[in-house]
Amino acid sequence: MQVEKPPIITQAIRVRRAREKSEYQPHGVSVESRRGRRYTIRLWSVRHSRLLEWFYDKFSRIFLTLHPFWKAVGYNRAEAPVTFVERRVKGLMFDCRMCGQCILSSTGMSCPMNCPKQLRNGPCGGVRANGNCEVEPDMPCVWVQAWNGATNMRHGEDNIMDVQKPVDQSTRETSAWLRVTANAAAGRDAARKAAQ
Ligand code: SF4
Repeated sequence: MQVEKPPIITQAIRVRRAREKSEYQPHGVSVESRRGRRYTIRLWSVRHSRLLEWFYDKFSRIFLTLHPFWKAVGYNRAEAPVTFVERRVKGLMFDCRMCGQCILSSTGMSCPMNCPKQLRNGPCGGVRANGNCEVEPDMPCVWVQAWNGATNMRHGEDNIMDVQKPVDQSTRETSAWLRVTANAAAGRDAARKAAQ
């Protein structure tokens, strides 16, 4: 005779059950309203992480080459239009939350800010047996996806081991593209000066 296994009660289920019942459901942020959402493009990006790694390498070089232009225009003035484009492109491809400190190349092109706990250094202990999130049962865990994406990339398996700093909230809604470019340009100029 087959004995039926008791259902697994996760911490998230306990919290949900203990929550006060109310008519109020915040629009657009509750788990319920996100149920049934499709993650097709996000998952495509993870599956094509190697191609995107190659593309981002070229793209960041072009941005760095344009450093004199950004400087002439003023990074501050370029911020608004570049952020506008970045939000739309990365929003479509990665469900980007504009943290301003992009670590996609260290997370297999899976944005860690989509983790409901916003973990930046690996999964919590609640990943379901099917690889989905314990908080949003229909969503593939971003860290399971991150590992899949990282194993496809040239430097992914090394990069995913980097320990990430906590998010600096002051950079939210700003352009990671410009920040990376300005930092790379400063690093390049310092190296040139040291070599002279
Ligand atoms: S890590 Fe930050 S900048 Fe990069 S895709 Fe995620 S939210 Fe956007």
